[in-house]
Amino acid sequence: MPELPDVEGFRQVLESCARGRTVRRVDVRDAGVLHDVSARGLRNALEGRRFGAPERHGKWLLARTGGPTLVLHFGMTGRLVCCHPGDAVEAHDRVLFTLSGGRQLRFRDQRKLQGLWLAHDDFDIDRLLRRQGPDALTVDRAEFEAVLCARRGSLKTALTDQSVLAGLGNLLADEILWRARLRPDRRTRELTEADLRRLYGRMRGTLRAAVPAGCVPPRDSWLTGHRDDPDPTCPRCGTGLRRSRMAGRGTVWCPRCQPDA
Ligand SMILES: [Zn+2]
Repeated sequence: MPELPDVEGFRQVLESCARGRTVRRVDVRDAGVLHDVSARGLRNALEGRRFGAPERHGKWLLARTGGPTLVLHFGMTGRLVCCHPGDAVEAHDRVLFTLSGGRQLRFRDQRKLQGLWLAHDDFDIDRLLRRQGPDALTVDRAEFEAVLCARRGSLKTALTDQSVLAGLGNLLADEILWRARLRPDRRTRELTEADLRRLYGRMRGTLRAAVPAGCVPPRDSWLTGHRDDPDPTCPRCGTGLRRSRMAGRGTVWCPRCQPDA
């Protein structure tokens, strides 16, 4: 499932494939990925426009054109791919943007849980993103602590709630909590000043390493590298990892490194 590092990777695909290029043709092969706009509406709005500098907020991507903005969310399986117009179209290529200079940007998505929106102005963008908290990559420590402590409940639930903090998903939250040695079911209101400072630092470090990889990398020294093993053990201490369901998602932690408070 795309999290902040994956979407940051898609932003870079958009930047290198489409920035400064004119949209020659929009080919909607599956209108099921469009929200609040028809295939014809999307074509009329974007054909002839030139893509500017793309922006990301949390798991959302904004493809600005100087006029309307294409807004993308990748759900569980979405991605952006830079192709040549002559490349074979794949089964899950839902929308093709043929660009000047012999490029074609494709929105590819198997499960179609989210998709594309068209924002006509900044008011539309604000409306689409109004429930998003501050971006996890750019939030400063004071704001991070303020938004997290304002959210009651477990730490895992708070970190993955996009209205608290935008960009973290299941893998990142577990990885960050393991590095910060905090149990995912710790209550946010029980965190000490030192816990919060460590959590913020580990979040920054995890994101700094994950963004260049374009994913949460399943490295041997990372929790993410072991969570799907048949009999997973902690890469730091060798203890058997625990699994449960939290915030509706499979949650993994080390009972030794992340003890009860
Ligand atoms: Zn451990």
